[in-house]
Amino acid sequence: MTRIGGTWQNWARSASVRPVRVERPRTPEGVQRAVIAAAAHGLPVKAVGAGHSFTGIAVAPGVLLELDDMQGLVSADTASGRVTLLAGTRLHRIPALLAPYGLAMENLGDIDRQSISGAISTGTHGTGAGFGGLAAQVVGVTLVTAAGEFLRIDETRNSEMLPAVALGLGALGILVEVTLQCVPAFVMHAIDEPVPLDEVLTTLAERVAEHDHFEFYWFPHTDVALTKRQSRLPESTKRRPLPVAGRWIDETLLSNGVYRAVCAAGRLAPAITPPFSRLAVKLTGDREYTDHSHRVLTQHRNVRFREMEYALPAENVEPAFRAVQELIAQRGWRIEFPIEVRFAAEDDRWLSTAHGRASGYIAVHRYWRADPTVYFEAVEQIMLAYGGRPHWGKLHTLDAERLRERYPRFDDFLALRERLDPERRFANRYLERVLGS
Ligand SMILES: Cc1cc2nc3c(=O)[nH]c(=O)nc-3n(C[C@H](O)[C@H](O)[C@H](O)COP(=O)(O)OP(=O)(O)OC[C@H]3O[C@@H](n4cnc5c(N)ncnc54)[C@H](O)[C@@H]3O)c2cc1C
Repeated sequence: MTRIGGTWQNWARSASVRPVRVERPRTPEGVQRAVIAAAAHGLPVKAVGAGHSFTGIAVAPGVLLELDDMQGLVSADTASGRVTLLAGTRLHRIPALLAPYGLAMENLGDIDRQSISGAISTGTHGTGAGFGGLAAQVVGVTLVTAAGEFLRIDETRNSEMLPAVALGLGALGILVEVTLQCVPAFVMHAIDEPVPLDEVLTTLAERVAEHDHFEFYWFPHTDVALTKRQSRLPESTKRRPLPVAGRWIDETLLSNGVYRAVCAAGRLAPAITPPFSRLAVKLTGDREYTDHSHRVLTQHRNVRFREMEYALPAENVEPAFRAVQELIAQRGWRIEFPIEVRFAAEDDRWLSTAHGRASGYIAVHRYWRADPTVYFEAVEQIMLAYGGRPHWGKLHTLDAERLRERYPRFDDFLALRERLDPERRFANRYLERVLGS
């Protein structure tokens, strides 16, 4: 996210806006004042996190609230593992905040640059068939409603709203505090290994069931999957982290550097993409290490890209993936970014992509300077045919009518929105499209 001349842009440079006003409240009361003032001026108001959504979900045309000065721990209870954070807290700060209490977040996504509120609000998830997304870790929130009132929602107060506000798309109010159910700190043993793609696909269900966390990447134009599998171990386990130099070589030089070279070269001469992808696969993969959970789960992503990701019933991942493979081969496209496949447990959040079903995720990417439209729209048709639900923070073309049929609690969410924000104080164009008004 940068702001030059008052313009806000997201990380992927796929959304931007020049808000009427930018405010940086430092306290929950400051947020409350900002919401009341916005209403008095008839302006919409919106909090942004780290701007890491690819869609326009965070676009704030009226008053943009930046919560970077609202970071940190409000309270922590070692016995219950419950931790309350200020809503603007970035994920990468959380491990150090939890360490004194011997706690950790149960699971994380690929990166840790997001704010806790932004991450939960769009359904950010990692991988692991036994674990839900970040919103599933939420046991309480405090938000400021459109009426300018504080509303506490947890197991004892207004509990019926929790499955909605824990993953609220920024449509129900401004979160000022988020309470998470954490787990005792743990380390992870990780093995990254290239495996023939066909072997991975034919044994996918076993691989997913066998490991606490399993995912794979496939570079189109190769026949190898880069698999990543991890087991959770007690914190007392001896750590064998990747040496700093090894991590740097892998993340900075190879993963990101090779990506950048593949992407840049592929734009000039698309024919270069397949051999470069084969080279990238040769250079990455094959490593084993044990480290703190957050260091194993998250990585750095320095090369800008655009992404679409769909959640499918887990059993549909293999046929859907094969259909995408066939599509790329048939069309003769040169795709410079890998396809990522992950898994998550079902959960009860009304708008969670894993609501009520064990899910697998297929994510497609393109370099940010390449036009993703044709590729993404063709893959989207396959995902929809296999019962897909799009990630709320990643590119897709669905509107409310098509989303309603995919979410059994969709109308309940709309009814709650009507109650909490009847005048659409928190609306923007993306929400108008996906929620229908
Ligand atoms: C490089 C990269 C890697 C990614 N990896 C993953 C991944 O592994 N898994 C995954 O699922 N997703 C992933 N994403 C997507 C990302 O996690 C989500 O889009 C997430 O929402 C971004 O968080 P943010 O803090 O940047 O929120 P923003 O994009 O700034 O905002 C997202 C939404 O949250 C709302 N919001 C923010 N703060 C508040 C608040 N205080 N109160 C109410 N609403 C609020 C905004 O209004 C908006 O609606 C990735 C994105 C990128 C760019």
